[in-house]
Amino acid sequence: MFITAIIGIIFFLVLILLAVRFGLTKQKAEEERESQAVIHTSGIYSIMRKSPREDIGTVKPSRAEISQYLSEQNVDIDKNSLSQADKEALIHQWNTSLENALNEVEEGDKKGLEFYYYYFENNDRVCEKYVTKGCFVTRQDLFKHPELIPPFHLGCRCMLKCHHGMEKIKDTTQIGMRPFLNTKGIPPLPDWKNILKIE
Ligand SMILES: [Zn+2]
Repeated sequence: MFITAIIGIIFFLVLILLAVRFGLTKQKAEEERESQAVIHTSGIYSIMRKSPREDIGTVKPSRAEISQYLSEQNVDIDKNSLSQADKEALIHQWNTSLENALNEVEEGDKKGLEFYYYYFENNDRVCEKYVTKGCFVTRQDLFKHPELIPPFHLGCRCMLKCHHGMEKIKDTTQIGMRPFLNTKGIPPLPDWKNILKIE
């Protein structure tokens, strides 16, 4: 009787040990799966979140190209004459505008933002035929097509702004937030050689 009880207890203990071991193994497998998922997700993110600064040189003219081109131009699209100072202002504005747009994306990445929109404080007679104020692009659009980052041409007034989801849509747009990319991909963008004099 006593031996039977002992055997019963041992058998019960073995069963408990097996159950605990099975539970731990299962938990470990789940943890491994989760950690792999995190690595995979962060892997995608690290690609998507790579600063566009590195690729921008392949889609925008270089400083030398711009200087060379401007040295051969005497008027802007409205036939306003361009002095040497005007040309220097155009180069300065191009650099500042590009730097601001790149900073905006880098700052947006720190906060994990997904949406950016085009914004104009001043009229832009070149862009108005191409880019509508308030049209948005996603971070992924910018990753795939860094040419979507302004400036689009010399003297471009277009700005790229992060959408924090807090700005009132009416303040940022004329006709509501609409995607800039259509089903065919990137709509035509202005030729960078269009010059709009800085006033
Ligand atoms: Zn423009």
